[in-house]
Amino acid sequence: MSAAPAALSTGTYRQLYINGQWVDSSSGKRNPVNNPATEEPISEVAFGTREDCKKAIEAAKNAMPGWAKLTAWDRAKILKKAAELIRERADGIARTLTMEQGKPLPEAKGEILQTADTFEWFAEEGKRAYGDIIPNSVPGKRHLTFRHPVGVVGAIGPWNFPVALLSRKMAPALAVGCTIVCKPATQTPLSLINIFDCLIEAGLPAGVANFVIGPAKDIGDEFIENPIVRKISFTGSTEVGKMLMRGAAGHVKRLSLELGGHAPFIVFPDADPEAVAKAAVMGKFRNNGQVCISPSRFFVHKDISKKFIEVAVAAAKNLKLGNGLDAGTEIGPMFEKKAMENTIKLVEDASGKGATLLTGGKRCDRFAKGYFFEPTILTGLTDDARVLTDEPFAPVMPIMEFSTIDEAIAKANNTAYGLAAYVFTNDLTTTFKMAEGIEAGMIGVNDPVPATVQAPFGGMKESGMGRELSREGLDGYLETKHISIRLKD
Ligand code: NAP
Repeated sequence: MSAAPAALSTGTYRQLYINGQWVDSSSGKRNPVNNPATEEPISEVAFGTREDCKKAIEAAKNAMPGWAKLTAWDRAKILKKAAELIRERADGIARTLTMEQGKPLPEAKGEILQTADTFEWFAEEGKRAYGDIIPNSVPGKRHLTFRHPVGVVGAIGPWNFPVALLSRKMAPALAVGCTIVCKPATQTPLSLINIFDCLIEAGLPAGVANFVIGPAKDIGDEFIENPIVRKISFTGSTEVGKMLMRGAAGHVKRLSLELGGHAPFIVFPDADPEAVAKAAVMGKFRNNGQVCISPSRFFVHKDISKKFIEVAVAAAKNLKLGNGLDAGTEIGPMFEKKAMENTIKLVEDASGKGATLLTGGKRCDRFAKGYFFEPTILTGLTDDARVLTDEPFAPVMPIMEFSTIDEAIAKANNTAYGLAAYVFTNDLTTTFKMAEGIEAGMIGVNDPVPATVQAPFGGMKESGMGRELSREGLDGYLETKHISIRLKD
């Protein structure tokens, strides 16, 4: 065991955090973390085992009575202090995030500041986990409800927003008195470790939050099979989400699932095609389209599609690719080689089925190293193109035409996903018809960035279940207890 390194910079070896101690993996194994811009290793992290995960779960169980007994106000003090520390260190943590994930520094800093907001929001919201007093129907009886922390939480997060997305689980869970074991994606553990540093410095007691990393299936299986874990909160692919859902049935575990998306982006003829095309390009290529709410199917009214396409192609060609640490970089590398290769296959598949490639479509050859992919625009796609049927998670913008509102709604809903959707119109009737007709958990109307800490985030259909952020974000970590009291006559 050793003390936590104080430095926030990369280059250090970092360990697992179990029961208030930084510890090596029980197997002694370490895993390199690579920079997708340089393909070079930047750090090593202990790569734990199922046994380590089990120890972390035990620690969370032992810490839970003490943590749950604190008042929400006392828990909030620690979470708000952590939020302050995260803000103070945002520049350093953002550098770490850029180096492990690839996104440009300003975006990385935005993610860290959003994480601080999430801790602060839930620190306050935890104070408002109200129960009810329910009017009685039988004389002499009284009915109350208490909100009770669900228990030990197993949380798993993806690599595209490694800090923001796990904080949406940690902050509400901790605010209401749950304890937690967190598993980030194997390739992006460092920035989350920096968040743990802040929580520890803020005074989080031992065992309340634990950090493990290791073979994903082993840790997932431990979360599923260990009866101490009462709730699994997962953000990642629909495929893994379904597997966890099947597994969770064994102990009827509570589940929150934030899964894949395939967001439609619909532009009506009354919208300004130039302004919307520029917003569409920024929204589409942010983080290389590796965003669950990334717009990924563009439906533009036939009367304005020519202008929209012309402006979008020019804007995509102008985007500045580069190392996320360099000033002025708008688009970093893709996260990993496999993701880049998959993007090439998506473009080949669409082109093979008759689509027209207007720009991009290949690895950016200006870079000797790194997974840089040219922002890509396709038109003339057939409905069976894989970029339309599968979640692409890639810097590819397929543009199609439509004519009527009903056609736009039918096309938008023609997917198993239902996470986000975007509608551009200035007409109130069209706005309401689209908002009511589209099957998605979040709809941005003239707004390419609808997510914010105080509003619910989550999906319909195969995009998941439950909502994160907002006051609803507490619900997944609370059980309702009904107390029925018979008074003396
Ligand atoms: P993924 O492959 O499902 O991985 C997500 C996390 O699950 C990682 O920590 C991964 O660990 C872990 N994992 C993989 N196999 C597992 C298993 N058998 N048991 C337990 N855990 C397992 O997804 P991804 O490729 O990282 O992320 C992209 C996906 O996440 C996309 O589908 C995207 O839409 C979705 N996403 C959804 C939201 C949302 O809020 N709805 C937000 C962001 C991303 P390893 O890293 O060790 O493999």
